[in-house]
Amino acid sequence: MGPPSAASTPLLHGEFGSYPDRGRRVALTLTLKALHIQQLGPKPEARPRGGLVPLTVVSGCCTLQNRSPSDSAAYFCIYTYPEGRRGGRRRTARTFQVDGAATFEENRAEAQRWATALKCLLRGVPLPGDGEITPDLLPRRPRLLLLVNPFGGRGLAWQQCVNHVLPMISEAGLSFNLIRTERQNHARELVQGLQLREWDGIVTVSGDGLLYEVLNGLLDRPDWKEAMKMPVGILPCGSGNALAGALNQFGGFQPAMGIDLLLNCTLLLCRGVSRPLDVLSVTLASGARCFSFLAVAWGFVSDVDIQSERFRALGNARFTLGTMLGLAALHTYPGRLSYLPVEGDSTLPNPAHSLPRAKSELTLAPAPAPPGAHSPLHRSVSDLPLPLTQPALVSPGSPEPLPELTPNGRGPELAGDWGGAGDAPLSPDPLLSSPPCSPKAVPHSPITEVLPEMAAPAEPPPPSPGTPVGCAQGPPDDLLPPLGSPLPPGWVTLEEDFVLVLAMSPSHLSADLVAAPHARFDDGVVHLCWVRAGVSRAALLRLFLAMERGAQFGLRCPHLGYAAARAFRLEPLTPRGLLTVDGEQVEYGPLQAQMHPSLATLLSGPPGDPSPSPY
Ligand code: ADP
Ligand code: MG
Repeated sequence: MGPPSAASTPLLHGEFGSYPDRGRRVALTLTLKALHIQQLGPKPEARPRGGLVPLTVVSGCCTLQNRSPSDSAAYFCIYTYPEGRRGGRRRTARTFQVDGAATFEENRAEAQRWATALKCLLRGVPLPGDGEITPDLLPRRPRLLLLVNPFGGRGLAWQQCVNHVLPMISEAGLSFNLIRTERQNHARELVQGLQLREWDGIVTVSGDGLLYEVLNGLLDRPDWKEAMKMPVGILPCGSGNALAGALNQFGGFQPAMGIDLLLNCTLLLCRGVSRPLDVLSVTLASGARCFSFLAVAWGFVSDVDIQSERFRALGNARFTLGTMLGLAALHTYPGRLSYLPVEGDSTLPNPAHSLPRAKSELTLAPAPAPPGAHSPLHRSVSDLPLPLTQPALVSPGSPEPLPELTPNGRGPELAGDWGGAGDAPLSPDPLLSSPPCSPKAVPHSPITEVLPEMAAPAEPPPPSPGTPVGCAQGPPDDLLPPLGSPLPPGWVTLEEDFVLVLAMSPSHLSADLVAAPHARFDDGVVHLCWVRAGVSRAALLRLFLAMERGAQFGLRCPHLGYAAARAFRLEPLTPRGLLTVDGEQVEYGPLQAQMHPSLATLLSGPPGDPSPSPY
């Protein structure tokens, strides 16, 4: 047998009390990938609560202290989201009592050591081999700008953000400022005027369309090079959540939809780890340029995307319904597809890339109103000391406002019997972690005017048609001659009747469609996929069903084509059709595009172990 792998080497080990079950003892062992909890007594449990907590399900941890000065113990709490037996994640907070030393100061130092080690592992900060583990190992509290489109998906983005996202990112010790977009292009304008150094990340809470605005806004800044270093993230609350689906797979989670996908992506976001992201620069017939992180689509896919807009109330299922209707009225599109192939092509799709099937979200029943649906809605919410006229929203379930949690909030685990009626509950240890509203937090410059409270509008304003605002800035497209000029040698041209043409950057076309299963965020490749005319409806349906697992290339369908490219040009030879870039409709006509490898920075979380296939 070889040596034990680094992942299972114990980094810390200790014995603690379990709070509030005073008297119960546990042994904790921390490794690179998990916290092992072993129940020690006093007597064996009927229902053991121990086990292995993989760090992939941990949102964060904090240290706590008893308000009563007579308690010499210190505490640390870890927030986890394990999967329940019937699927779906459930929040659990586990609190451990550090009582091995005689004085509070020593116990506190130990609690601090554990909390710091956990946070370092979660955020990818290396632990010193033999040095002290103290909180100054951690960089400053990361500050996120969250942008929410209240009309994203079924119009639930705001509530989902308040109910699920904010508690988790508070637990992770991240600061946030939450802004609700008021109109199309609002997010784009906001990031164009942003003081970049004040933020550690910009995260959109919607579908892919809002991140498209953010990316294009950042690339349209004169300092776009600097702006591209700003980590951007996505939390899926839209009807098209393709990038989130790719992130979910990258994080090693099983395919997921809906709230499960949102929780997985929030867990990844809590880790605060980023990596490079390829960006495709797309030049449209008018000469306008826009930037894509997802896909350029023509034919069947763009038709379904745009024509299913009217089924927005169905959430992701709108695409399923749209696909059925699209199949019924199948069109073909004559056109010319030219591309600059990737040299020494090692990126061809491999049928072995298929994934387990996602739990389908095909439900036509209206979603039940989330709990707390009547909580007041504010346009702008922050846990930072901004000059808000509305009281800042307190993250439910977050560790910080413990005194408020005790009487009526979540977290009964902290309100348990603490040795008698007179005892004060635990409160955050002010010296160990700085709570979000502490004076230590640096105020941001106010980037929004704060409006009086307003109710969530019932309906989105009419969608504004067509052409996105072009980007004047950004990197030059050195592989592309002007549209209309002949292509240089080395390009390949196909002239066909197409059913669809897709140019993918990441793997996923939607949360449950894996169009380019072998794609990576930073492979520098645009994955061209096309389906030629002559395909039967049944064969096309089979391709889309197989795409749920990324297994379409294994079908060896003669009408399915693929090429790995650095750049491409698409010339429709029919006046009728729709083109989309990242799900947004753009002007119809010839277009061309070049991949800019690793141009942007994506809040991705660490790569996960690939999900074990159930097959
Ligand atoms: P979905 O996946 O549900 O379509 P998106 O994030 O793609 O969600 O958003 C859909 C469209 O809404 C995008 O074009 C986006 O620019 C636009 N948008 C963003 N904020 C608002 C708003 N407050 N009102 C109307 N449209 C908005
Ligand atoms: Mg890629």
